[in-house]
Amino acid sequence: MERTPLLPLPEGMFIHQIQEAEASLIITVIATHPVSCCPLCLEPSFSIHSLYRRTLADVPCGGRQIQLVLTARKFFCSNPLCERKVFTERLPTLARPWARMTIRYCQQITSIGLATSGKGGVRLAARLGIHSTRQSILRRIMELSPPAPCSVLRLGIDDFSFRRGQWFGTILVDLESHRPVDLLPDRRAETAAQWMRQHPEITAVSRDRGGEYAKAAAQGAPQAVQYADRFHLCKNLSEAAQLLLARCQAEIAQLSNREEPEKNGQSKQIISIEEWRPPEPAHVEKARLARRAGRYERYQQVVELQAQGMKAKQIAQRLDIGERTVRDWLKEASYPEVKKRRKRQSSFDSFAPYILSRWQAGERNGLTLCREIKQQGYTGTERTVYRHLETLKQAEVKTSANRHRLQKFSANTAVWLFVRDPKTLDDIERDDLAAFRQVSTTLNRAYDLIQSFFSMVRKREGHRLDAWLLQIAQSDLPELQSFANGIEKDKAAVQAGLTWSINNGPVEGYVNKLKLIKRTMYGRAGFPLLRQRVLHAL
Ligand SMILES: [Zn+2]
Repeated sequence: MERTPLLPLPEGMFIHQIQEAEASLIITVIATHPVSCCPLCLEPSFSIHSLYRRTLADVPCGGRQIQLVLTARKFFCSNPLCERKVFTERLPTLARPWARMTIRYCQQITSIGLATSGKGGVRLAARLGIHSTRQSILRRIMELSPPAPCSVLRLGIDDFSFRRGQWFGTILVDLESHRPVDLLPDRRAETAAQWMRQHPEITAVSRDRGGEYAKAAAQGAPQAVQYADRFHLCKNLSEAAQLLLARCQAEIAQLSNREEPEKNGQSKQIISIEEWRPPEPAHVEKARLARRAGRYERYQQVVELQAQGMKAKQIAQRLDIGERTVRDWLKEASYPEVKKRRKRQSSFDSFAPYILSRWQAGERNGLTLCREIKQQGYTGTERTVYRHLETLKQAEVKTSANRHRLQKFSANTAVWLFVRDPKTLDDIERDDLAAFRQVSTTLNRAYDLIQSFFSMVRKREGHRLDAWLLQIAQSDLPELQSFANGIEKDKAAVQAGLTWSINNGPVEGYVNKLKLIKRTMYGRAGFPLLRQRVLHAL
């Protein structure tokens, strides 16, 4: 008799003999533990009634199947009051009373089933030296007892499609343990509410934007705060942005087509009268940059002195600048650029609208344009007129080049430029984005609003929501307005979602896992099996 670490057995069991067969090992094992407890009255017994033999399949060893031929005992129950007179020896860690395989073997088959599927599981098991059938694997999964009911403080809820677009279910995830707690066979508010009623401890419900789960939480967990999930908010805004892009791109494409004959036709306004200013002459720019450098140096000195512990007043005296300036600078997180001064009124300004309209009507001759405005009373130099026209020419070249550049995009691909954090764009993407903004004033306006929302999401600035909604209401962007209308209907939850860190990320993760599981089952399994596989997923 011996024991070996290669085949762990419960205490009191010894290997009597090992026989080699072609692809398996037959191991004879003898139970010798002197005592066993009666399963009925739990009284320990020492008196042996008889011996009997059990055959158990065990986990394979080195690729060989293992068969345990076990000699076990029957015991007399020593309790005179017990109905059971004789009982078979219990081996709780090795095998259940009537089982034909060991518990560990059973667990391996279940794990294979959970990680793969019925048929796939059979194939994988065979590779590992385990012989099983599809039915046997599925039965083991179905036999798993549901996870013990636990308290859920923060609940994440979302739907999933069981059969694409036809049949939906609901997944519930504990947002603290990040484990799925249940799967419901539909996505009706009543079903979810009923589940929530059994969990009065819930304090927070994170959900998508759909009305059903809002209703469910209101009915089933009225004590809980509801959070609209940021992921869904961002997704909805991206969808709105995509619609907007599709509309603007159609306009851009139409414009490019119309421009082909150019010359005679009216072309689009390439620059607004407010933006239209000729480039700064080199010497002016040089002087401006020099001023900036000096100011920047002083700014750095101020920051440094403050870091050394000096007060604003002392710094102002030391550097001989105004105390007010010092305070203003210290308020900023980084160097505050000086806003460009408004262009000084020039004699050309009052003729600018006329020149612009003539240019857009197709007049490109500088001399003609000069003559025309001189007749209207222009007293400035021709040079000024030419400098302004040069700006228009450049803007036009850039615009048509940009339009060409943007043709490779669909609204689907372009939307990424608009919704991503600008810091994550590479140089090419940044240029593409700039081209969009340059070609379309609508997109230019929309971009700032879209980014403002995403920044609110990233920085959790729920307090800015009202101001943002107001900006949207005042904009002329119907796609974003309809997104904003959706928010208005569910504003408290959206604001909570934008303010607190709770989010549905783990739920989305499980929805993805669920999809994967669903696919491994080739879409043939029913809800009960899916539920078991998700709740017990490895
Ligand atoms: Zn008994």
